[in-house]
Amino acid sequence: MRPPLTDSFDRHIESVRVSITDRCNFRCKYCMPAEGLPWLQRTEVLSFEEIERLATILASMGVSHVRLTGGEPLVRRDVPDLIERLVKVPGLKDLALTTNGVALRTLAGPLVDAGLRRINVSLDSLDHSRFAEITRRDMLDRVLEGLEEAERYPELRPIKVNCVAMRGFTEPEVIAFAELARRKPYTVRFIEFMPLDADRTWRKEDVLTGAEIRAMIETVYPLVRVPAAASSTAERWAFADGTGEMGFINPVSEPFCSSCDRIRITAEGSLRTCLFSMEETDLRTPLRSGATDLEIEMLIRQAVQAKRMKHQIGEAGFVRSARSMSQIGG
Ligand code: SAM
Ligand code: SF4
Repeated sequence: MRPPLTDSFDRHIESVRVSITDRCNFRCKYCMPAEGLPWLQRTEVLSFEEIERLATILASMGVSHVRLTGGEPLVRRDVPDLIERLVKVPGLKDLALTTNGVALRTLAGPLVDAGLRRINVSLDSLDHSRFAEITRRDMLDRVLEGLEEAERYPELRPIKVNCVAMRGFTEPEVIAFAELARRKPYTVRFIEFMPLDADRTWRKEDVLTGAEIRAMIETVYPLVRVPAAASSTAERWAFADGTGEMGFINPVSEPFCSSCDRIRITAEGSLRTCLFSMEETDLRTPLRSGATDLEIEMLIRQAVQAKRMKHQIGEAGFVRSARSMSQIGG
């Protein structure tokens, strides 16, 4: 085992989000423009072998949690093969996937067979026309069928449903989402809208905070706080009657940067140490030009040393990254 991966604020990096494609079959308004984005060429995207090698180098430094994301990770072919490779990486304890859920109807089984045990499904509305409005795709039923399929595999738990909370859009469905968390074996979590939309329409006023949503839920269903792991991004709240759990991810109103243990790798193999980084470290060139594992490890350590203390969303001087969430890997 190599020395742990730490930054200059003594935060230990234990978690990596790996984007496996920048492409997506949705066009969520808070993420992508209606016409899509200039996609990467296939050769620009890291291969499964390259992802496995990076995961192995990272795991040797104590990065034990890997989450696959995108774009939409399940538009890439053969994702179960990648899962199969990653579950065998020594030191990797936790492998998860974030998806819009459309492909789960057919892929939940193969993903579980390959070794996937945790999944997050994004779902911003339970109403057909509002779902189509926000994702620009009329596919609510496919996502709900995908969730039902995921439910059939008891080894795939927890199933988390993530909803981006936007003022002026989300309020009418807050109680319906709470009821989904009570009715189904899903932890439903609200994520505050962040300035990572390709359309660049984000305004601070559009952020519906976790505290506001919790207050709405508590007028109907009282909640009690559940202790969460120190590095967890989500506040956990259980329904007081013991039926189900909600989560609140509040990066704008209550930043959790001081306990951040995360880095990200984009689909083209650049390391980002913060969602809002202005800098990236190219790992694909060394991967493809014969660098040793130790040389790649040193590049990663150097980048992580420069991880910034916090993002500054909503503060004077905040500068948006040129990349949207789908191009980074949320
Ligand atoms: N396509 C997959 C999905 O939607 O789950 C994975 C990639 S998506 C970029 C990962 C997560 O980022 C999703 O839960 C999505 O809702 C969230 N997201 C995208 N843009 C966001 C934004 N501007 N603010 C907050 N969350 C955002
Ligand atoms: Fe695609 Fe996920 Fe972005 Fe929606 S949030 S456009 S599903 S990458």
